[in-house]
Amino acid sequence: MALFQSPNGTKDWLAPESEHLAYLVESFRNQAELANYHLLLSPMFEELGVFVRGVGDASEIITKEMYEFTDKGGRNLALRPEGTASVMRAFLQHNPPSPFKVWYAAPSFRYERPQAGRYRQHHQVGLEAIGVDDPNLDFEIITLLTNWFHLIGLRQLSLKINSLGDDICRPAYLQSLTSYLEKNQSDLCREHQERWQVNPLRVLDCKKLECVGVKENAPKIKDHLCSDCNTHFATLLSALDDHGIDYVLDDYLVRGLDYYTRTTFEVACLSLESAQNAIGGGGRYDNLAKSLGGKDTPGIGFASGLERVLLACQSQGISFGEQQGPSVFVIDLLNGKEARDITLVLRDFGISCERSFGSRSLKSQLRQADKSGAKLALIIGEQEKENDLVQLKWLSDHKKERFSEFLTTVTDGVYDISGGNTSFPPEFFSTENKARIVQYHLSDTLPAKIAIWVIKEFLNDK
Ligand code: AMP
Repeated sequence: MALFQSPNGTKDWLAPESEHLAYLVESFRNQAELANYHLLLSPMFEELGVFVRGVGDASEIITKEMYEFTDKGGRNLALRPEGTASVMRAFLQHNPPSPFKVWYAAPSFRYERPQAGRYRQHHQVGLEAIGVDDPNLDFEIITLLTNWFHLIGLRQLSLKINSLGDDICRPAYLQSLTSYLEKNQSDLCREHQERWQVNPLRVLDCKKLECVGVKENAPKIKDHLCSDCNTHFATLLSALDDHGIDYVLDDYLVRGLDYYTRTTFEVACLSLESAQNAIGGGGRYDNLAKSLGGKDTPGIGFASGLERVLLACQSQGISFGEQQGPSVFVIDLLNGKEARDITLVLRDFGISCERSFGSRSLKSQLRQADKSGAKLALIIGEQEKENDLVQLKWLSDHKKERFSEFLTTVTDGVYDISGGNTSFPPEFFSTENKARIVQYHLSDTLPAKIAIWVIKEFLNDK
């Protein structure tokens, strides 16, 4: 066993899974850019206050899960447990025009009990739009999340929605919830018997049987919304209805962070275990700017955990295509300039190319070429150098057949110059080259420049 392992709750992502994660980020970026969201790169750590004041000192993320540290200059810092507070800090610092529409893809750190789909370092993609309180923006944000999931092929999704009210209506609701919980505190789960006063809304989120029993009869926020919150929520729901987007109203959806106001939403993937089936969620945070010392500025956003999305894809058999090996593997029997040259030229041509290093035998290099998944081995030895030739060896039989066919078309094209075949450079049609192409048929070799040209044409030929 290696002397060091990755820290508990973290994971090294190797190919092909690392490439699946990269694909997810790429598809997310495409979606975000279609709606004019631009990339924000912010630091992986912030002053502790950004999260304590932003996310809220009663939330579990802050009280139990945050990675805090003091740097050598004595500053209190924390690794980012989530993205929104950092985005708002950046907005307040730079004062960009609103709406400030950004996307990000970044690691988040939470000291949680590691299990499938729950890591101490996980990776989130997210969108935030700051500066507008129009429910049409809530609609845009929610549909960007659900559209992205559909685009990557996920099905069996459930979109849950709630409104948590605002500064006008929430205090009265909290009072009524608090007095209800006070009367029923002895029936709550052990943790909430102690903590219900610190954050009464979190009881609504508790999945323990005792709390589930109590919350069924608890007052509901929807019966306490003020008229502005009611209108905002009704407008959003009717937009979702207009576009045939299914949702479930969930009175208990309060989410784990204290900054949410009005709209909150979460997407659950029903093919995952319920403890880890939240694959994305977010909401409005109209008070966040103020709690970070800025002026009142509304905002809304979401984040989605890539590891969970990947699990969801795997649970539904979504494939990301096979891992691609290089197109060409250069076998260097001379340990010299020729292999270096040809490798550079192939890559310049946009042909993915691997080569061997360290003067190994032909047999061992061919074995390496096979393992790499390359389609074609290109062999350079003494004879090839002398005659400006390369030897081609197709590593997949299927390709070999197709290549022969392809080459027939090419040679026909060469002989039929008057037919105006323009897809080859003029020097390709020289008498000398024609002779060499015919020679290929006989000996499986081609002059280096023509080989590169033909390989490129062939690999692009679907
Ligand atoms: P949250 O900020 O808690 O709403 O998290 C946003 C998304 O990140 C969730 O919907 C999950 O997909 C994902 N997530 C949160 N915590 C973890 C974790 N510890 N490990 C993996 N993914 C997580």
